[in-house]
Amino acid sequence: MRSPRLLLVEDDPANVRRVRALLRDCREDFEVLHADRLETALALVTTQSIDVALLDLTLPDASGLDAVRRVCAAAPGLPIVVMTSVDDEDLARRAVEAGAQDYLLEGAIDPPLLQRCLSYAVERKVFEAQLRHHVLHDASTGLPNLRLLLEHLEAAAQRRERQGTPFAVLSISLDNLRTITASYGLALGDRWINEVALRLSALIQRGDTLARVGPEHFIALVELDEPATVLRLAVRIQQDVQRRDLLDGEELFSTASIGITTSDTQHERPEQHLRDAIAAMGQAREQGGGRHRIFDAPMHEHMVSRLRLDGELRQALRADQLEPFYQPLVWLHSGEIAGFEALVRWRHPTRGLLAPAEFLGVIEEAGLMPALFERLLPRVLAQAQAWQQDGRPALLINVNLSPSQITGPGLATLIAEQLTRFSVAPYSLGVEITENLLIEDDDATAAALHRLRDMKVRVLLDDFGVGYSALSCLHRFPIDGIKVDRSFIARLGAGEDGGAEIVRAIVNLAGGLGKSTTAEGIETPEQLRFVRALGCELGQGYYFGHPRPAHEATALLQRGRTDGPSPLLPPSPRVAPGHTRGRVLLVAIDGGLHERLESLGYEVLRAERADAVELAALEQPEVVLLPLGEHDLDDAELCRQLRDAAESGAISVVLLTELPEDHPHTLALIEGGGSDVVSPRTPLAVVCARLDSQIAAARAGARLRRIAMTDELTGVFSRRFLFGALRRTIKSLSRRGPGGVAILLVDVDHFRRVNDTEGQLAGDRLLARIARTIDGCSRDTDLVARFGGEEFVVVLPDVEEAGARHAAERIRERVEQRCLSTVSIGCALIDHVPVALMRESEQLDRVIETMLREADEAMAAAKRAGRNGVVFKKLRFD
Ligand code: C2E
Ligand code: CA
Ligand code: CA
Repeated sequence: MRSPRLLLVEDDPANVRRVRALLRDCREDFEVLHADRLETALALVTTQSIDVALLDLTLPDASGLDAVRRVCAAAPGLPIVVMTSVDDEDLARRAVEAGAQDYLLEGAIDPPLLQRCLSYAVERKVFEAQLRHHVLHDASTGLPNLRLLLEHLEAAAQRRERQGTPFAVLSISLDNLRTITASYGLALGDRWINEVALRLSALIQRGDTLARVGPEHFIALVELDEPATVLRLAVRIQQDVQRRDLLDGEELFSTASIGITTSDTQHERPEQHLRDAIAAMGQAREQGGGRHRIFDAPMHEHMVSRLRLDGELRQALRADQLEPFYQPLVWLHSGEIAGFEALVRWRHPTRGLLAPAEFLGVIEEAGLMPALFERLLPRVLAQAQAWQQDGRPALLINVNLSPSQITGPGLATLIAEQLTRFSVAPYSLGVEITENLLIEDDDATAAALHRLRDMKVRVLLDDFGVGYSALSCLHRFPIDGIKVDRSFIARLGAGEDGGAEIVRAIVNLAGGLGKSTTAEGIETPEQLRFVRALGCELGQGYYFGHPRPAHEATALLQRGRTDGPSPLLPPSPRVAPGHTRGRVLLVAIDGGLHERLESLGYEVLRAERADAVELAALEQPEVVLLPLGEHDLDDAELCRQLRDAAESGAISVVLLTELPEDHPHTLALIEGGGSDVVSPRTPLAVVCARLDSQIAAARAGARLRRIAMTDELTGVFSRRFLFGALRRTIKSLSRRGPGGVAILLVDVDHFRRVNDTEGQLAGDRLLARIARTIDGCSRDTDLVARFGGEEFVVVLPDVEEAGARHAAERIRERVEQRCLSTVSIGCALIDHVPVALMRESEQLDRVIETMLREADEAMAAAKRAGRNGVVFKKLRFD
């Protein structure tokens, strides 16, 4: 082993002698080189291999810290110990800060101290070098890391400045690394990266730098003679990365996206070159990966404007220039405004109103989405509250959430707080999220959605159908509804095939799963007709209105209220009385359901729990919607009594409960007489479908029972039953206020002659046929009974004079056409049933008898008038 080589830098000959003497007495045998000026010292450290320097701080050509710095710069790896006089200890300390490893005070040095000091200096320098390596290199590949790269970039920029040496920066991304680690694990991914790093290093010249700055991200900094070489290098790198490696029997490879920039672009700070290269790489990736892009002027322009936008946006958020606009959501059944989707707009001080496409991307990149939401939500809810205070039923208010926000901290809390603050019912608020978010099947996402759902906020899947796994999401996540993407709606009626089938499939599927459906982007009447016919619940689109500022939305709502049911759609044909979609009794249900069902064509009755049974007995609804109460027993009993209140056999009870359908309590009630179960979250369209099927069942049941209660011959009611039905009808009419009732007596002309000439069998057949014909002319709510012999009675509730005349005339005509026979009809009508009748049953019976008698007399008059005619009598009871 050679002796350590020491450079002594000292101009004072006496000091030089003293130090040499001390060194001779040291444990180690130093080989001493001497320089009496800094100039000489610098020449030596750069040409000779020296292990340690002992440096005086007062030299003829340099003094103090300057000497230390220059030696450090010339020989970065050289350990330095400085010597100074006792009064200058402070200077010595600063020398250590400037890069020396230790100091000695002249006159206080002995051989052991000198030896120890020099050894420590060497050790410390080695340790520092290790540390430096550690801090400046990537642990896995050993390549320089970002910090070292920046140092090298700084140096390259300086060389470019001083000597005009151009350079290029290549930002290299391995496009598939994430997939590789996801499929084969981190360890194998890491080994593969090391292989690739090794190969790439081999492509880089000595003096150039290959750094690893992220898991899949490398940067090459190369000195450049001409642009073509950089491009050749980029291509070589791409080929190399794409080479297939066989590791542990797995074939691994990736494409590389490369962004390139050269020192031709002027920048103040070196790291700006890096930023350009990375931006170009981003573009290469966006274009599909596996390609390279050179940073150019338009890209630069784009970045500069982005940066400016970023700054402006932060300012805009603070200044509340971002504002919700409101686009109407419309109930497709009735055309009424159901609510609004809030869509953000930027009132830019100079550029005017900007749509989200112009700035949302920047907001997302800058991580400002949560800030935007925090600003918008209170404004939107304050608006919802204002609309509510105008006395309207709660509107649906939808807001958009960016996917990145869903799992963010505090989202649920923020929403809950703001709902409370503005007293807005949770179900009023819908959050729209895009389904792409859900393909990751992330537990955190599911948990976040469940939190919202538990709060009873509606969760909606936006842009449904364009994403990946759309359908499976509906099962896996707590979703209340979907919004069918407008690209599908656009294809409806545009002469393109397939669109209709897709929309139909989506709506059917979602409906079947109990999800509400909204059709987005309705622009034409044909599109509206189509989605309406499909049973889509809600619609949205320019046909109904563009997104508009709050005050215009308010105006729209006001018009909606004063101009009748719909300012937007031709009003749906008013449901003729007696031809309702069904008669529904809502028990203890407040809120807007009542109006909404009415607007959808139902006749709606309302009662509290206490008077529900009485009302049901009186009004004979076809279906009851009964929310489960607090006590199981009450529910079961109430359910039973409601069913029993039916006179003609069938009142269905649909239970409204948060409990699942297979909950023991629900099951028990279903067994005990409940017909179906819906939840408060079941979309209205689905509730309607369920009600409709119960109503259909109730009507079928009623018909069955009618048949069972009468003779085989005519299939109409007995006289006894008729009386009960008449009582009930008149009572319920008087309860509801003005409303008429008519009784028709229908007598078959010349019936005896038929019997006599063609036989009784033919007579029976004729009667049955006439009964069927009359029955076929009547509405579901009418009553047809055989009054005796060849006489029938028809009761028409809820008619006026014109309606009754029309009904009678129709029966006469049809019988004439279809039965080759004629009838004489007498009609008695009251168009106003006094309220008092409801309580006085004796009086009521008297009214009924009077009506029957008057109808009978009218019929006799019709016969006298030559048969095959109608005579009409209008009665009053006051
Ligand atoms: P989106 O949620 O799908 O919103 C519907 C977009 O379709 C809106 O564009 C709306 O103006 C437009 N639109 C509505 N009806 C029609 C139509 O009949 N035809 C056509 N061609 N377009 C129609 P907008 O307002 O430009 O918003 C674009 C997107 O920006 C939204 O798409 C949403 O994803 C996002 N966005 C808007 N506001 C916010 C917000 O406050 N937060 C978040 N995170 N995203 C928002
Ligand atoms: Ca939306
Ligand atoms: Ca959408």
